[in-house]
Amino acid sequence: MPEILRVQKLGKNIGGYHGETIDIRAVLRDVKSAGQMHGWSSELFYKTGDLELLALHRKPSLLRTPHSAPRIYISTGIHGDEPAGPTAALRLLEENKWPAAAELWLLPCLNPDGFVLNSRGNAGGIDLNRDYRHLESSEVAAHVRWLERQPKFDLTLCLHEDWESPGFYAYELNPDDHAPLGEKIVAAVANVCPIDVSPVIEGREARGGVINPSLDPATRPLWPESFWLLQNKTRRSCTLESPSDFPLPVRVDALVAAVNAALMIVTADGAGKLVSAR
Ligand SMILES: [Zn+2]
Repeated sequence: MPEILRVQKLGKNIGGYHGETIDIRAVLRDVKSAGQMHGWSSELFYKTGDLELLALHRKPSLLRTPHSAPRIYISTGIHGDEPAGPTAALRLLEENKWPAAAELWLLPCLNPDGFVLNSRGNAGGIDLNRDYRHLESSEVAAHVRWLERQPKFDLTLCLHEDWESPGFYAYELNPDDHAPLGEKIVAAVANVCPIDVSPVIEGREARGGVINPSLDPATRPLWPESFWLLQNKTRRSCTLESPSDFPLPVRVDALVAAVNAALMIVTADGAGKLVSAR
């Protein structure tokens, strides 16, 4: 039997996340040193106590033609009870297998206070991933100020976890009908983690682990990060959800496989280049 089929839900997540926690200070320290070692620049855009909100940036190391590098934004750690995200960001940095022809931004933890508390929200109990329309929290306001200084992105990836899910799934926002990514991402993740193939996930119609929300952000009273990105910075965004009732290493493998698959697809033949002007 393939190893993956033996991975089972732990049954710990009753009413919320009750799995492993991470020392976010140690993870962020290791993120900074891995980034430094592999040529990323790092910008501190907000501090809460001694905890830092960081944005790492890596220029393309290979340009096929001037300005041809796809620009890809990856963020995670906005929910403090989803430890696979920052752990996957660290693993990706340490593995250092980025496509040479991509320009990359990596935000390893948008809610460090939440990780100290193992809570979804920040220290004030605000769900930061519902604050991108009204910008009431200091963290999200600072993040948006940082985002406004960045160029447009060809793809944005937001890494999350779902404590109830029986497997990995992805939301794909693709209003201009570019070549879809979700199905290929799920196929890559299926090698390392079970997939949630339910026809309805989180109340939305899903197919093979992919949800294509058709909602117009303008009609939604509370915006997640991905809606702000779609309105302001990108026309293609995937939210990746690992199932947090599985062991942490499986979920980290799932998110790493998903990011690597998305990067490979978007940079493989230059077809990922959607944004023409800075
Ligand atoms: Zn989340």
